[in-house]
Amino acid sequence: MLITGPRGTKDILPDVSGNWQYIEKTVRDICSLYGYKEIRTPIFEHTELFLRGIGETTDIVSKEMYTFTDRGERSLTLRPENTAAVVRAFLEHKLYAESLLSKMFYIGPMFRYDRPQAGRYRQFHQFGVEALGSKGPAIDAEVIILAVQLLERLGLTDLNLYVNSVGCPECRPVYREKLQDYLREKTTDLCTDCQSRFDRNPMRILDCKKTKCTEESAGAPHIVDCLCDDCSTHFEQLKSLLSAAGIHYVLNPRLVRGLDYYTKTAFEIQYAPLGSQSAVCGGGRYDGLVAECGGQATPSIGFAIGIERILLALEKQGLLPDASNEIDVFVAPIGKEVQGIAFKLLCDLRKNGVTADMDFMDRNIKGQMKQANKYPARFVAIIGDDEAAQGKVMLKNMQSGVQELVDIHAVQNKIQVEMED
Ligand code: ATP
Ligand code: MG
Repeated sequence: MLITGPRGTKDILPDVSGNWQYIEKTVRDICSLYGYKEIRTPIFEHTELFLRGIGETTDIVSKEMYTFTDRGERSLTLRPENTAAVVRAFLEHKLYAESLLSKMFYIGPMFRYDRPQAGRYRQFHQFGVEALGSKGPAIDAEVIILAVQLLERLGLTDLNLYVNSVGCPECRPVYREKLQDYLREKTTDLCTDCQSRFDRNPMRILDCKKTKCTEESAGAPHIVDCLCDDCSTHFEQLKSLLSAAGIHYVLNPRLVRGLDYYTKTAFEIQYAPLGSQSAVCGGGRYDGLVAECGGQATPSIGFAIGIERILLALEKQGLLPDASNEIDVFVAPIGKEVQGIAFKLLCDLRKNGVTADMDFMDRNIKGQMKQANKYPARFVAIIGDDEAAQGKVMLKNMQSGVQELVDIHAVQNKIQVEMED
């Protein structure tokens, strides 16, 4: 019996890997424009890091982690997200000592025991940025604009940017109480998850996707009405920076993070046509996380973008680049005797940076021409006994159909001249 890939994983096959490279290149270009440098952390970390860095009450930690014990009896977890690991590396390598503000990005696979469906996998990929060290709000605006510019550069339209402020440990408890007061009588109508959130993490009820919960919490008070002066000023400044940059945003009071180390700015970018997997980017400020992980308090902000969802969106809008297998030259020997000469020509062309290939399947010349068309190849260099005897090749321009006897050492030159025409 054939063994298949595990549920929720996907092979990125050669015919689509070009799409991934295209997105990755765009990500790298944008990050270099904004001064964010790549950080690569391990795929697995001590489980403890995620318990502290994501929070034991979150869905991720309570039901989505791939946790295992290694042969040395350590509890390790495949990373479900990368912010905690970036913070760990920041502290472990004392990056704060190098500069007051650390701007980093990452791109790579994450692992969550999610229910697989379009746009939701168990191994998926995120691109994210983290800026550690600045209180904002200018850095908040920069991070948001970076995400927007990336998506715009890829050509996506119909995106909605939602922003909110989740306050800070100073003002949030007041809101929390107000929210509980509002929901207290309605708890029995909430889903079982939300019933248990009522005490633990009531703000997450606003975030629940179940219809009954959205309905029950529809008239709930808004946290932006409860912010302290510091949080309120920060939020006003962020909004005016975004407006000044021409970034369109929508206030979304339901956008929340339940944990203490998430502070102030929360944002999400949605691409509505993806239905229940419409969130392509989620981010926000986490001024309390670095201290939670054992470091000095360091105000920080970041986001993560799901690459599979971006790919789905690009596909829907017909924005994926054309896959091209075009090569410059296909070398076509006629008969075994000239194989060696043909192979030498192939090697020389490649050594000089010309994309070239030849037949490795002992095809006759007709089969080889078919193969050349399939790529397609711009030129075919045909070498028969007569050509070989004269140190020449028959170079055929596949577009014009014109063929010409060319000295074997002049093939590259000839091709380059013709391609420039
Ligand atoms: P969702 O509500 O869709 O589960 P989330 O709140 O769990 O999203 P985040 O933890 O904020 O998502 O992760 C950031 C981004 O990573 C999401 O906006 C989404 O694009 C992507 N993402 C999250 N989980 C998955 C998954 N299982 N498969 C594919 N992409 C995912
Ligand atoms: Mg999720």
